[in-house]
Amino acid sequence: METSMQSGATTLPPRITKTLIDRLTAMVTAGTAGDKREPYEMIEVYTGAVVGELPQSSPEDVVAAAAQARSAQKEWASWSVERRLEVFARWHELILAEIETIADLIQIGSGKTRRMAIEESCDPPMVISHYLKTAARVLKPVQRGGYMPVISTSIQQHRPKGVVAVIAPWNFPFAIAMSDSTPALIAGNGVVLKPDNKTALCTLFGVELLYQAGLPRGLMQVVCGGGPDVGPTLIENSDYVMFTGSTATGRTIGEQAGRNLIGCSLELGGKNPMLVLEDANLDDVIPGAIFAVFGNTGQACMHIERIYVHDRVYDEFVRRFVAAAEELGSKAGASYGTDPEFGSLVSPDQLARVSEHVEDARAKGATVLTGGKARPDIGPAFYEPTVLTDVTAEMTHATMETFGPVVTIYKFSAEKDAIAQANATTYGLNASVWSRNLARAEKIAGQLEAGNVNVNDGFVVTYSSKATPSGGLKQSGVGTRHGDAGLLKYTDSVNIGVQKRQVMAARAAMPYAKQLQTTLLTLRMMRKLRLR
Ligand code: NAD
Repeated sequence: METSMQSGATTLPPRITKTLIDRLTAMVTAGTAGDKREPYEMIEVYTGAVVGELPQSSPEDVVAAAAQARSAQKEWASWSVERRLEVFARWHELILAEIETIADLIQIGSGKTRRMAIEESCDPPMVISHYLKTAARVLKPVQRGGYMPVISTSIQQHRPKGVVAVIAPWNFPFAIAMSDSTPALIAGNGVVLKPDNKTALCTLFGVELLYQAGLPRGLMQVVCGGGPDVGPTLIENSDYVMFTGSTATGRTIGEQAGRNLIGCSLELGGKNPMLVLEDANLDDVIPGAIFAVFGNTGQACMHIERIYVHDRVYDEFVRRFVAAAEELGSKAGASYGTDPEFGSLVSPDQLARVSEHVEDARAKGATVLTGGKARPDIGPAFYEPTVLTDVTAEMTHATMETFGPVVTIYKFSAEKDAIAQANATTYGLNASVWSRNLARAEKIAGQLEAGNVNVNDGFVVTYSSKATPSGGLKQSGVGTRHGDAGLLKYTDSVNIGVQKRQVMAARAAMPYAKQLQTTLLTLRMMRKLRLR
């Protein structure tokens, strides 16, 4: 259940008009069978005021959306990759031209800072640029040697799956929805996108721009609603699911995809550690760690919730980190301008979850070095940057993802103990290690059980590398996004074998002993000549 917010006056920027909101919400596939569901009231996080009503899709609407996408997909798949990419080159331009409106819409539903909203808006252009450069090569059919050189060949084709369901969370609502849909569409699929209700506006605007860029009508559909209401029908009517969200929901999605025998990619939660070695340059570490912990108000899947600091630098690190966290907290603000450096949580519900984790730790003996309080004076979902020590295993925050501006600092003296503690989690999404000695840091990076490991950075360096596949290990996910693998996962690999001359009939006429002898000789010869 969503906690309801007091309705009052909004503080929307002048660009965000009722006409724009009505136009965007009209894009949701809803009410196709004539039975309108109760709409969802969208809230401006900074004020708690209602900004508009979001139509909610019924199962019949989801079926209709998937059918539309499937019908448009047939022609789209017949276009050359180069022709499809022209649409994405135009979309790239449109996103950059409309970046301020995109940032407004991101901020309305998420409450993040302007700078973070702009950074988020830059993610899809980076992904688009990468695939503009690589997609034609990656999707090209590959001719491979057949079972018998010269006589046969095998062609590997990459065929689009058909219709891809993209289910996106609220924390990077524009970046994730757009960046995960991009390779699905470029590979020749249709997409049915389900954003989170809270943050649907920015996603709808991105889709509107994509249609302006020349995407064939109907190819990308948006359905909205509660996950459990919309999810099962969506998966039932799709050929692949790209899900980003919590580990608990990921498990449900994986089960449903398994039952339908379709593939899925699951990008899930984390409990990400940072290691600060005794030779790390604290002038770099402190701002890096502050961003890694408190960026996006701690609501980033790759953000750091555990910091292990070598005992030789522990006291200085704690003193400087706490001072920097307090300074950041003093720059919190509810504004669409660039002044605030620390934003809101997404909702009072999220604030309640974060606060519960901190109060549980406090009650069980943790020390709150700074923070640990809500800031209703700034907005209904603001919470202070919070630093804990003395956190022990029975506290919820020790092992569960808090997903807010809360971090625990631990002390270590032996490198191997720090690595073991960093790995002592069921998650494996991101890890960070800081040292002036790059060779040593890279060696440690190789021992950390995470799908992304950042040396002398918190998460930006891996997050921004669009050429390298990125995903979670252990309970943090299945599959990867980005790179060649992030495009090919939206295709089926089809093997077309071509026989230039039929040789089987001649062999069948041989006595069996002779056939066997010839077969063994051929196998040996091919291995020696490295032909097969
Ligand atoms: P969530 O799992 O509650 O919801 C994610 C999306 O799934 C939403 O659109 C939601 O409506 C939908 N959903 C919920 N139940 C569903 C169901 N049964 N069927 C289909 N859809 C359903 O997660 P959240 O709270 O929105 O997002 C925060 C979580 O996402 C955190 O755990 C965070 O770590 C994770 N996350 C991971 C990544 C990554 O790349 N690994 C990125 C961002 C966020």
